[in-house]
Amino acid sequence: MIPLMKMRLARPTALIDINFVPGLSDIQNHNGGLRLGALARHTELEMSEAVAAVPILHDCAAGIADVQVRNQGTIGGSLAEADPSGDWGAALLALETSVVCVGPKGERSVKLEDFVKDAYTTVLAHEELVREVIVKKPARNSGGAYLAFKRSAPVYATASAAVQVTLEGKDICKEIRIVLGCVGLMAIRAKDAEGELRGKKIDGKAIQRAAEAAREAAEPQSDMRGSAEYKQALVAALVKRALGMAVQRARGERVEAGHEYAGR
Ligand SMILES: Cc1cc2nc3c(=O)[nH]c(=O)nc-3n(C[C@H](O)[C@H](O)[C@H](O)COP(=O)(O)OP(=O)(O)OC[C@H]3O[C@@H](n4cnc5c(N)ncnc54)[C@H](O)[C@@H]3O)c2cc1C
Repeated sequence: MIPLMKMRLARPTALIDINFVPGLSDIQNHNGGLRLGALARHTELEMSEAVAAVPILHDCAAGIADVQVRNQGTIGGSLAEADPSGDWGAALLALETSVVCVGPKGERSVKLEDFVKDAYTTVLAHEELVREVIVKKPARNSGGAYLAFKRSAPVYATASAAVQVTLEGKDICKEIRIVLGCVGLMAIRAKDAEGELRGKKIDGKAIQRAAEAAREAAEPQSDMRGSAEYKQALVAALVKRALGMAVQRARGERVEAGHEYAGR
């Protein structure tokens, strides 16, 4: 909000500080899922044991910008802002996520895919708040990874990929979600790429076909972060790498994933 006001892109006549509303920052296990309070900071999510059980969420929280931003920014604010370059929108779309909104007319739960309508636009009504984000915990034999490529820590990603896969046996893909970030006005579910893997053996050829389909699904703009062609190639490479990590995690292996920085 502060950067938007500094650039005069937002000129609110009044601001209401919701920081002291009790119960809005809880992080809890609940009914086979996670309840993430809207005011939970990225750092709190990064440090949470409950969140660590769903590694794709930890990957996302731990890599957002720098420590200062992670200490201040919230998951609810991030989704409400619906910045196309935001990390949470892509990572959470790889899981079954709903956003609980509350306003004068009561409470409603909106699936994340229906919550974000366009860049910087959500279904939130004027007087509605995000109260919490509910994430269904992935099945056994499931693993996920979120990888974002950044020029440096304090800037938004050039492209990102979120993959959550459920295996049957060691290498058959039972279910999969592949989401691309920063390469469109909203996070993009790469459904053709998922189709290249679902129900099939995950081998080099299938991974290559999925990466190609992900490249096709991306709709990036050329900007100071890179040309559209560069971002398409980048997002395909990120999908490949995130998929490899997701499969390892689904097999029970411990794999460190994190954001990738240019020049490293
Ligand atoms: C320098 C910088 C670098 C950043 N880099 C990244 C990055 O790499 N990756 C990334 O994902 N994010 C990044 N961010 C975004 C940051 O992580 C915050 O999540 C984001 O700015 C929202 O901040 P906030 O939670 O404090 O919400 P605010 O700034 O307080 O609010 C943002 C908007 O959402 C609304 N809002 C806030 N909370 C709610 C709620 N509970 N219900 C309804 N509406 C609400 C506000 O009215 C406002 O319109 C960056 C931000 C900065 C300033």
